[in-house]
Amino acid sequence: MTDPLSFLPMMFSAQPDPALLIDSHCHLDAAEFDGMRDAVVAAAHAAGVGQIVVPAVHVDNFAATLAMRERYGCWLAFGLHPIYLDRHLDEHLTVLDDWLTQHRPVAVGEIGLDFYVPGLDPVRQEWLFVEQLKLARRHELPVLLHVRRSQDRLLKYLRQYPVVGGIAHAFNGSPEQAQAFIRLGFKLGFGGAMTFRGSQRIRRLAATLPDDALVLETDAPDIRPEWAQDVPNQPANVARFAEVLAELRGSTPAAIARLSSANVCTTLKQTS
Ligand SMILES: [Zn+2]
Repeated sequence: MTDPLSFLPMMFSAQPDPALLIDSHCHLDAAEFDGMRDAVVAAAHAAGVGQIVVPAVHVDNFAATLAMRERYGCWLAFGLHPIYLDRHLDEHLTVLDDWLTQHRPVAVGEIGLDFYVPGLDPVRQEWLFVEQLKLARRHELPVLLHVRRSQDRLLKYLRQYPVVGGIAHAFNGSPEQAQAFIRLGFKLGFGGAMTFRGSQRIRRLAATLPDDALVLETDAPDIRPEWAQDVPNQPANVARFAEVLAELRGSTPAAIARLSSANVCTTLKQTS
């Protein structure tokens, strides 16, 4: 139970301190956080997180996403996620267009292609994705991408309908695909997956990509890290992910926080 009069939540700054961490991808509005959201945000603050990017996934959660800006000062993205393909109607693109105009998020997202989950019609996925790329172009916004078994297809469309840049979240492609995204102005998101010693390819990429290509993310409440498989992932974990990435790159968590946050700000045009 949350009584807004009895408790004022901590707010993130619209222009966060460059030394603070940014969670570049967190579904803070997700039901998993109901009843504990203020505590989750307080824990993130305490862990050194200065901003959280919250992407919407379908029109039904646009309002809940907006509430994350009103209550906590989060940066937002609005988009139609491929996983919810069955729930997206053609007219939701018009709704999205209106929300982009009225509420001016930092990006269009979460959008993309998922060729892993069975039963998601690829033709309709690609149509919906392209229509959202057109919206991103019209609104001059970057995009937050969901990329699963679809790297080359996504790259094809990004070349056909170039956007101002964005973040390929939870990146899990080859080094060549990584370079192709980077050439198109994208940053690559790293989080829970790189905490597993078995994730050789992701860890190698995280260790070797150039400094200006990497951003930290949690994808909370999903993509739980190796050390916390039984509880929802949460934005405070981005601090531990900075430690993991620092270890992989022979750097320090403070340096990783700075470069990741600078990359997020550059990409999402929130230059402080
Ligand atoms: Zn996501």
